[in-house]
Formats: sequence, structure tokens, C-alpha cells
Amino acid sequence: MASIDSPIIIIGAGLVGLTLAQGLKKAGFKFEIYDRDNSLHERPAGWGITMHWALPALASCLPPQIFETLLSIQVDPVEGGKENDYYQFLDFETGAVKFAIPSSQHYRLNRKLFRELLCTDIPVQWNKRVKDFTSTPNGVTVNFSDGTTASGSMLLAVDGKNSRVKRQLVGDEASRLSPLPVAFNGLTLRLSPDQMAPFRAIHPVLWQGCHPKSGFFVFFSMLSTPASNGSATTSSPYYEGQFNMSWLTSRHGPTPSTPSAQLAAIKRAATSDTGFFPTLRDAILAIPDDTPALEIKLEDWPTQPWLSGAHSRVSLVGDAAHTMTMYRGEAANHGIYDAVKLVWELTRWRAGEQSLEQGLQQYQDEVVQRTHEAVLLSREACLECHDIDSLSEESAVFRVAGFNAAVTEERPTFDIAGDGSGGVVDGEGLERLHGERNMEGPAREAVAV
Ligand SMILES: Cc1cc2nc3c(=O)[nH]c(=O)nc-3n(C[C@H](O)[C@H](O)[C@H](O)COP(=O)(O)OP(=O)(O)OC[C@H]3O[C@@H](n4cnc5c(N)ncnc54)[C@H](O)[C@@H]3O)c2cc1C
Repeated sequence: MASIDSPIIIIGAGLVGLTLAQGLKKAGFKFEIYDRDNSLHERPAGWGITMHWALPALASCLPPQIFETLLSIQVDPVEGGKENDYYQFLDFETGAVKFAIPSSQHYRLNRKLFRELLCTDIPVQWNKRVKDFTSTPNGVTVNFSDGTTASGSMLLAVDGKNSRVKRQLVGDEASRLSPLPVAFNGLTLRLSPDQMAPFRAIHPVLWQGCHPKSGFFVFFSMLSTPASNGSATTSSPYYEGQFNMSWLTSRHGPTPSTPSAQLAAIKRAATSDTGFFPTLRDAILAIPDDTPALEIKLEDWPTQPWLSGAHSRVSLVGDAAHTMTMYRGEAANHGIYDAVKLVWELTRWRAGEQSLEQGLQQYQDEVVQRTHEAVLLSREACLECHDIDSLSEESAVFRVAGFNAAVTEERPTFDIAGDGSGGVVDGEGLERLHGERNMEGPAREAVAV
């Protein structure tokens, strides 16, 4: 029997591993959490995260005072989090809004600050890279590449899309990611208020669009404002923004291999064929040449069962379980929902309602059922948004539950602490979170021009 007294081993202190740790802490489980990096800030985190349908799950896992801090870590705490907002998709040839999708309550968070917040009071053991693991009669032993080990009742692998644990569980062949035929470039902009003005004029928080003839797609999101990054009171106030451009490799080739070549390709794209509409084209051409650029390889893994008789106490969570592209902006939402569902199954184990193996099986079944299709929908969204003429309001890129106000999907909430806080965002909690911020917006119907 796995003992409730021995710690649960978490591998990976990304957004989902930290949320899982918070959930286990709140539910009163003993755990240890390890990460290969030297610290929270070792890698660049140049993108934002939209939290939408998994806000109730996040609230279940976090202490209320941490959850309520979310508002202040939005990419734009003044303009973000408004109700009755629209999600805009532009035609880049004309600058016209092709689709305006009414959005439900969501928060666009600065990922770096979100991760810092989730790390509050979580004692991560850094510099611990998992090499492999062995299952024992009483649980699991993890072997780190520095020669040390950690043993516990179970191993929860939240080690991201290239999960080493997944590779050992399902094998090299079955764990291989599927590459998508799309080149993806990510710029982290740092611009003066004047330089950022044309981007913010479209929408101050986020927008996307495509050029009808060339098929170049852009997703733009603010990352910080002078007020939120502290530069407002300096002589050089600046905004930070996330500028992502992608294209089908069959049309325009692979992602260039150096940051400067990536930026040059983005500038060429803005002027190719009939060119982007003048204000956007000029704003792109004015992006400073030393802007950091990042290639993100677009790959996915439609979720498959991973539990095996030999390793019945090893499970996957977050991107490790369901690698998907970011075109529907819901991978982290799924991961955070995984976390609350898993903690819930463990509370049932602790209460003697099921064995640990049964709990992990229930968890896996739900994750596979929920996310296999989600991965494929993200793949569909990724491919279709490079052809604006093929899009409609029914397209996968727009039909995201929780983000699109017209799409709802019932998912149970879980009170893992047994103190009523599991339902916090269904009722007073979310109202308290954003109550004073709600703004009246225009009539809420999707607009297709
Ligand atoms: C550009 C972009 C935009 C996105 N936008 C959104 C969005 O708007 N909404 C949304 O829901 N999702 C979004 N996502 C997806 C979201 O970022 C991921 O789903 C989420 O960050 C995954 O978290 P994770 O904790 O599962 O994995 P990760 O964040 O990858 O964390 C894995 C952790 O495991 C550690 N690790 C890895 N290997 C080992 C090892 N061998 N030993 C020890 N530790 C190890 C790593 O150091 C890392 O800290 C976006 C993704 C991208 C790339």
C-alpha cells in the first residue's frame, strides 16, 4: 500500500506544477517539488497567459489571498479583465476587423509574474534534473542526474512537453511529438508609448489577424505597461509586448535560424504581396533591430493513456500529458484543471473511498477524454488561421469555451480543501475579484464583417 504519510513527488515547477503544489498544500498533503532549472527566472518567459475557463479550478487550488492578486498581474491591469469585451481578428490587407467575438470573463496575465505568484510559499528544490525513476512496492524513487534520489508515494510528472518521465512511461516512439508545418517567431517588444501606440490602438490587451493573400498570421498581446513595469516614473517609460508571427512552411519556408533573420523575415512579411495596412506595416518596420526573437517549435501530442501496471503510481500533468499549440490559448487552462482534478482524486484516496491506483486511473481517464480532442482542435486552429477566407465564427480558433461568451462547457468544480473555497469563482469570489472593474460594453453579438 502507498502510504499517505510519504511525500508526493512533483517534477516540474512550471505554471501547472506550482498550481498542483498549491492544491496539494491546500488539501493538506505532504509533497516535494523539484525542477531542473537553477531558479524561477532561468528561462525567458516572454508571453502572456489568458486564464478563462479554468479560473474556478485555479481558485480551488490557491489560497484566496493569492487568487485575488491575479488582477494586479494582468498584462495591463487598467485595460484588462473587462467584461463585455471583444476578441478581434483583423484583415491585415485593409485593417478591417473581420471577426469581433464577444469574450467572457478572462484575465490576460504576465506569465513571469503569474509563475512568481504561484511559487508563493512553495519550497521548490532547484537544480534537480530527473534522469529516470523506478517503481517500488511502496511507491516510486526518482533518480536525478546529480546522483541524488527522492522517494515518495507517487510521482506526478509536470515536466513539460518534452517530458522525460513520459518517455520512460510510454517509450520513445509513442512519446514522440508531431511537428506542425508552421513556422513560428516570437518577439518580445520593448517600446516607448509612441512606438507602441499603433499596436495598442487595435486593442490594448490582445488581438490577432491574417493577411488574406500572403497568409501571414500575427498574434499580439501586451505584456506590461509603464505603470505595471515601474517605468512610468522614469525618464524612459516603456511598454512590453508579445508579437508572434507565423506562416505555413509550404508557402514561406522554415523559421529563420537567427533572431536578426527572424526580425528581418517579419519585416519582409509586412510588406510582401499587397502589404499590411499602413499603420501596422509602419509599426512593424519600426521595431528596433535588437529586439529579442525566439523560435517556438510547433508540435503536439494528442493525449494517450500513460498508466501501466509496472508504474501504476506515476502520472502525467499539464503539457507533459497533452502538448498542444497555443492557437486556442487553453493549454495552461487544461493543465490547471488537471491539477484540481488530480488533487480531488487524491482526497478521495485519503478518505478511503478508493485506492491510489483507482484514483490515478480516474484522473487519467478524465484527462484523456477532455484533452485528446483539445489537442486536435488546437492543431486545427493553428492551421486554419493562416487562411482568413476559410474562417467563420464556428472555426476552432474562435470556439474556445470560457473565452468566447457564446461557447459554454460544463465542468465540475472541486472543493479540495473541504472549506467551501472550491466554488469560489462560481459565486462571490469571482465577483469580488473583478466586481468593481466591470464596464458596460456594446451589444454582445459576434460581428463578422
Ligand atoms: C507563446 C505561447 C502562448 C501561450 N498562451 C497560452 C494562453 O494564453 N493560455 C493558455 O492556457 N496556455 C497558453 N500557453 C500554454 C502554456 O504556456 C503551457 O500550457 C503551460 O505553461 C505549461 O505548463 P507546465 O507546467 O505543464 O509545463 P512547463 O511550463 O513547460 O514546465 C515544465 C517544468 O518542468 C521542468 N523540467 C523539465 N524537464 C525536467 C527534468 N528532466 N527534471 C526536472 N525538471 C524538469 C522545467 O524546467 C519546467 O519548469 C501558451 C504557450 C506559448 C508557448
